[in-house]
Amino acid sequence: MIKFKVEVNQNKCIGCGACTTVCDNFKLVNGKSQPKQKVVPENKLECDLKAKQICPVKAISVTEIR
Ligand code: SF4
Repeated sequence: MIKFKVEVNQNKCIGCGACTTVCDNFKLVNGKSQPKQKVVPENKLECDLKAKQICPVKAISVTEIR
């Protein structure tokens, strides 16, 4: 199973909370989003990708771990 690293750029995140509404892998900590699980298998990645898509400041990155 391919795994992916999910990260939130803390400098870019404006704490809008949009990612937390579409994916329960994100939580707000001190006004910034953080992934609960930083390593996500491919079959659980769908909502993380949705969160990445809707983030207004493109703070979320999803990269394949090789
Ligand atoms: Fe931060 Fe983007 Fe999530 Fe908004 S959607 S809380 S800016 S990571």
